[in-house]
Amino acid sequence: MVDKVTAVPTAKPAMASKPARLLAIKGMNDILPPESARWEWLESKVRLLMQRYAYRNIRTPILEHTALFVRGIGEVTDIVEKEMYSFEDRPDKNGDHDHLSLRPENTASVVRAVTEHNLLYDGGKRLYYMGPMFRRERPQRGRFRQFHQIGAEALGFSGPDVDAELILLAVSLWKDLGLNDWRLEINSLGQPDERARHREHLVGHFERHADVLDDDAKRRLHSNPLRILDSKNPAMKAVVESAPRLIDFLGEQSLAHLDGVKAILDANGIAWTLNPRLVRGLDYYNLTVFEFVTDRLGAQGTICAGGRYDYLIGQSGGKPAPAVGWALGIERVLDLVSEQGTTPPLPVPDAYAVIPDASSLPLAFRTLQGLRAAGVNVQMHASTAEGMGSMKSQFKRADASGAKFALIFGADEMAAGSVAVKPLRADTGAAVQPQTLRSLDDVASWSASLKD
Ligand code: ATP
Ligand code: MG
Repeated sequence: MVDKVTAVPTAKPAMASKPARLLAIKGMNDILPPESARWEWLESKVRLLMQRYAYRNIRTPILEHTALFVRGIGEVTDIVEKEMYSFEDRPDKNGDHDHLSLRPENTASVVRAVTEHNLLYDGGKRLYYMGPMFRRERPQRGRFRQFHQIGAEALGFSGPDVDAELILLAVSLWKDLGLNDWRLEINSLGQPDERARHREHLVGHFERHADVLDDDAKRRLHSNPLRILDSKNPAMKAVVESAPRLIDFLGEQSLAHLDGVKAILDANGIAWTLNPRLVRGLDYYNLTVFEFVTDRLGAQGTICAGGRYDYLIGQSGGKPAPAVGWALGIERVLDLVSEQGTTPPLPVPDAYAVIPDASSLPLAFRTLQGLRAAGVNVQMHASTAEGMGSMKSQFKRADASGAKFALIFGADEMAAGSVAVKPLRADTGAAVQPQTLRSLDDVASWSASLKD
């Protein structure tokens, strides 16, 4: 009889050959221990930091209507043109399909959620998120198809003070992570009328140099010429560098906003450079935009990027409200952490339970549970098909676990109401400290001695 589940069309059920191994999708990585400990280290630093700045956590679905991203991010962007994982959902009972996409970024979803739940009814909100994003790009160092972002968004605030707060928040994070090999680039994209005037000059400039434009640039010349400034094509470097600068078209108010940001950065000793070519890859930005860049990661050197998006909430159907935010790429930030030689501490248990005989397990468990309830991290030696294993093999595991102490649940000691505690590492005085006997039941009297 062939089991329904295993009856895949390509399988020959009669043959005993091994089924083909299924592997993860290219560009989508498993994050395994001990590497995952570095992620947890970063995430816990971020949570504490967000509390210090009073940013609150928001979690939105990974799947949204495709229209949300097309409208929010802009039709003529790399993401929407070629990077989204989109599909038609199964038809409902009327035969209608939903067009859905895995989120390529999280700002559009945050704006949708804020609008849908009217979060700004009693004033501005400061929010942060962490999670996976999906873009169908060519996988390489610092560029994956499932990657992870941490983002901070301040919605409902219009002043340069919040732009500066967000930048300082990112700088605090670099400090907490021990990163100093980065630089901050800022620019202003002004307001729509200023961009319209600049755009005329920009299109004129590129039309005069049409011979050096690549296909992408030609396509964008009339739909989104600002994005041509973002081109990474070396053949277009000169024509991009000689293009009219948006900053020269900014009026007094836009310049004052930028000055407001700079003044706060300067007063706090944050070095910045003005990069008039900084335009960002998404359509929704205005006024302040910024990137944190490093030279240590090769071609993918932008670790964090953001800016103001005062029109997105209104354009998404909400009551118009200003907003500003940034997103960082966790993989790139962790790569920089490694490049800079920082090694986050690996988690190790305080104690390893050595259990010579399986018949001791029920009683030993009571002590282990008591220790865990008291906040001690305990790894238990688990049985296998061969039983508990020799003392020698158990001690080998205990050493490999990195635990500071072994708890030895020997039958004789247990009969006397005790467990033996043996220091394992030199820094806990293993050489000088003798093995001690501790009460099986009165865990409270000695649990603290296992912790640092
Ligand atoms: P890039 O110019 O590197 O393609 P981007 O402008 O597309 O970046 P954003 O949409 O601003 O990037 O995303 C913010 C951050 O997320 C980036 O600065 C980067 O650190 C990270 N990031 C973006 N795309 C990827 C990816 N495919 N893989 C890993 N990290 C990414
Ligand atoms: Mg990109």
